[in-house]
Order: sequence, then structure tokens, then C-alpha cells
Amino acid sequence: MSKKVIITGTGLGGLSTALRLTTDGYQVEMIEKYHQAGGRLNLLEKDGFKFDLAPTFFSMSYEFKELMEYCKMETPFEFLKLDPLYAVHFEGDKRNYLIYSDLKKLAAEFREVEPNLEVKLKKFLTQTGNLFHDTENIIIKQNFNSLLHYATQLMRVPLKHGPKMFYSMWTELSRHFTSFEVKVILSLVGFFLGSTPFKTPAVYTLLSYTELVHDGYHNVKGGMYTIVRELLKELEKRGVTIRYNTEIKEVESTDGKVSALIDQHGNRYTADLFVINADAASFRGQVLKREKFSEKRLDRMHWTMGPLTIYLGINGKVENMYHHNYFLRRNFEEYSRKIFTNEIKMDKAYYYVNIPSMHNPEYAPPGKESIFILCPVPELRYKPDWSDGDEIADGIIRDLGERTGIDFAGRTESRTVLTPVEWEKMFNLYKGSGLGLAHDLDQVGGMRPSNQDEELNNLFYVGASTTPGTGLPMVVISSRLVTERINKIYGSVHQK
Ligand SMILES: Cc1cc2nc3c(=O)[nH]c(=O)nc-3n(C[C@H](O)[C@H](O)[C@H](O)COP(=O)(O)OP(=O)(O)OC[C@H]3O[C@@H](n4cnc5c(N)ncnc54)[C@H](O)[C@@H]3O)c2cc1C
Repeated sequence: MSKKVIITGTGLGGLSTALRLTTDGYQVEMIEKYHQAGGRLNLLEKDGFKFDLAPTFFSMSYEFKELMEYCKMETPFEFLKLDPLYAVHFEGDKRNYLIYSDLKKLAAEFREVEPNLEVKLKKFLTQTGNLFHDTENIIIKQNFNSLLHYATQLMRVPLKHGPKMFYSMWTELSRHFTSFEVKVILSLVGFFLGSTPFKTPAVYTLLSYTELVHDGYHNVKGGMYTIVRELLKELEKRGVTIRYNTEIKEVESTDGKVSALIDQHGNRYTADLFVINADAASFRGQVLKREKFSEKRLDRMHWTMGPLTIYLGINGKVENMYHHNYFLRRNFEEYSRKIFTNEIKMDKAYYYVNIPSMHNPEYAPPGKESIFILCPVPELRYKPDWSDGDEIADGIIRDLGERTGIDFAGRTESRTVLTPVEWEKMFNLYKGSGLGLAHDLDQVGGMRPSNQDEELNNLFYVGASTTPGTGLPMVVISSRLVTERINKIYGSVHQK
């Protein structure tokens, strides 16, 4: 008889694991705290406008293809490759820099500030590409059974990459490039995760390779929520049920095994095994009450940025902007060192603007536009009071208007502002940290909370704060890793 699995959480991690496990012959039920599926990969519908709630693009699209192949499905959505990848505006400049993956075109954009960029980029991207391919299968796509196993895997990474663990991304970028603009732009991936290139180890320059060379950035036709909608259709066909507005508050266990999950009303849910898609670190602390993940210990870990997100429905179409736009300033070092610990005022914020209705007309009524703004801010450990959230949002919208010449404030028909307080409440994100545990070297690989529980042997984890890490493709890989673990213990129909 097939084993029954309960998956708590319908984020991309939970949904992909449900698909894989049904493929392998398990019977799956899902439980979700929010009123609809998707977790952070969600959709906000308001006043006739639609907005992608959080993720607006992704790299490594082939991880979705791998998921579909595993689950014996045709890919039910169409990827849209971004070109240009995004536009960047520095305060005071009359122009945008357009970021292309075509290195000739990219070099032409920076001709004035960084001569000879194409040659420099080729050298840099060859090195970062080697780093990516030398770690992808050995470290990123691996389950680790112990610290020793992790250390053994690390030893298989070619020695030449070793030094990059000990100096910063900024130092590495400064070895290759001279201009402030190029160095800042190549640091953006790290900055928007909530880290500064001055602290992030140089190994993470491999993200430049995934961004510019390997697979670029993608969106999905019909908007990002199409992914969730299509996965849900397939899960329904496979008989998976989802119970919404249900939050798991307690875990009952006997003889080293979970016997039941208990929700906010005291209802009990039983199964043979359980997969948790809630944050793998804070679930262990807040629900399982593990000392190693007590609030004090969790607070000592490094968490990614708190998001301040703004969703505007505006009258009129937007010209001279792109699907993805970054608005930056010239005090990058000071700002990025201080913002996440709330040591600098937010009246001159750095932010990202996405206009989904440019590619997906159904996101706004005719002649209108839906606008998403993300500003990386301190999470609740550093700034617990967000009563000034609307005021900060006003400042960002005013600044955007001044820098683009578009009266966003005057044309607003719909407005929603979410601070880390709301982000924490909606999806149980620890202290409102938008992307979960950060990727410091002591929080990755075998040092990240494992996808198999330390004490309860039928309890597993999937998602951003377990291995390998955060972001949509990483979470899809996470579903593969946890499925491998489960199949090793319980078997799959393929093995029977
Ligand atoms: C503002 C923002 C922008 C982002 N942009 C991008 C981007 O452009 N590209 C990209 O690749 N990534 C992006 N990310 C990161 C990406 O969204 C996440 O890494 C990914 O969606 C995490 O998926 P997950 O399945 O691990 O978790 P989640 O999506 O958080 O899903 C977990 C689910 O578990 C539920 N849950 C939690 N606790 C319980 C409980 N006790 N009981 C029941 N249910 C529970 C939650 O409600 C949630 O639905 C962004 C994140 C944010 C916040």
C-alpha cells in the first residue's frame, strides 16, 4: 500500500515535492496557513490590477524542466527570456544602463566608464563559470549526511577556488573592473538578497555567471503565478488535496517519529511521513521547541533582507522604463553596509521596480499599468516598528517620479504597502526576512539546517532555509534533494 505524506506549506518547495512524491507512488495531502497556494510565489489581485507578490524572475530555468521530466509531464508554462535583463539608473544620471547578456552590447553600454569591458568580462565570467560548474553537482545539488561528508565533498572542489572563500566579492570585482558602476551592478544579486558585497565572500561571484552567461533570467508567459496555477492543476489530477487557512502549531511524537501534526484549532493530522515547507530553521525553534533553534539562537544567525514591497495600479501607460529596473545611488558602500542593520535613514532608498503589465497585458486594465516596487530594508530584529512604512513608501514613489518624470503618485488608483511585519505574518517568515536564512559560508551545504530532522526520523524539510538555499530554482532543487532522501528510506514505485 502506498505511504501517505503530509506536506505543510504550498510554496514552490512544497508543490514541487508533492509532484515528485506522487510520481513516486506516494499519496499526498497538503496543509497551508495562507488562503491560497504558492507561498511567496503568490498573486495579489486588487482594484482590477494583478501583481506578482514577490518573485518576478528567475535563473536556471532548466531546473523547472528537470522537475517536469522527473514528474513525466510536459512543461505547462512558457518561459520568457529577458533581454535586456534589466535597466539600472544611478541618481543624478541622465541615462539608464541596460544590462544585456550579449557581452558586446553590454560593453557598449559602459564604453565611457569601463573601457575594454568585453575582454575583462570574458576573463571574469570564465573564472566564475568554472567555479559554478565545479561546485554545482558536488555542493549545490547534494544531500549531506554529516559534517564529515560535507567536508569530503568540499575537498573535491578544485583548490584554485579556495582563496575566494576568504576575501570579499567587492575585492574580487575590483581585481577585474575599475568603474564604480560595473562593480555595483555586478554586486546587485547579493545586495538584493540582503547582503553587502563587502562582506559576501568572492565565491558568490558565480552568480554573475548564472545571470549573464549560463541561462540568463526568465519570466513566465501569463505572469509568475502561472507556475503555481499549472502545478495545482496537475496535483489535482493526481488526487492531492489542500487544506487552506490551516496553520500547524504543534507536533506530536512517539518513539522518535512524528505521530501527528496539530493545527490552530487542535485538529490532528496523521500520515506515515511529513514534509515541512515552512522555514526549516524557525519551524524547528517555534513549533518543535528545539533549544538549538531558540529565538536567541535564531537571532544570532544571519538572515536575508526584510522586504518593503509596494504594489501600485496606475492610470496611463509607462514609457521609457523596462520590465525590470533598479534605482541606485552613489553612496553604495555606506548604504549597503548600514541599511540592513537600520543604521542609515531610508529617505534615500535603493529599490527595484518591476512592471509586469508590460509583458502581461492581463495584469492591468487597458491603458493602465501595474507596478511592483521592492526595497530591501532591515528585518524585524533591527527595526521592529514599521508604523512609518507608508511614509517610507511615499518617499520611494516620489523619488521614482522625479527620476522618471512620471507622476506615479498622482496617477495611483490602487496602492498596497507590505512591510516585514506583514511578510512575517503572511507566511511565517522569521522576523520578516524575505528570503530566509542567508548564504554565509557557515550557513550553506552541510552547515544549513538539514532536510531531514535530527530527532524525528519520518520528518523532512524542503524550501528556502534548508539545502541548497533560497530563490525559485534552488527551492526546486531542494524538492529533488528531499525526495531523494525520502525514496532512500521508503522507496519509490520506480525502485519497486
Ligand atoms: C519580495 C521578494 C522577492 C523575491 N524575488 C525573487 C525573484 O525575483 N526570483 C527568485 O528566484 N526568488 C525570489 N524570491 C525568493 C523566493 O520567493 C523564495 O526563495 C521561494 O519562493 C521560497 O519558496 P519556499 O517553498 O521555500 O517557501 P514559501 O514560498 O515561503 O512557502 C512556504 C509556505 O508554507 C506556509 N507555512 C509556513 N508555516 C506554516 C505552518 N506552520 N503551517 C502551515 N503552513 C505554513 C506558508 O504560508 C507558505 O505558503 C523573493 C522573495 C521575496 C520575499
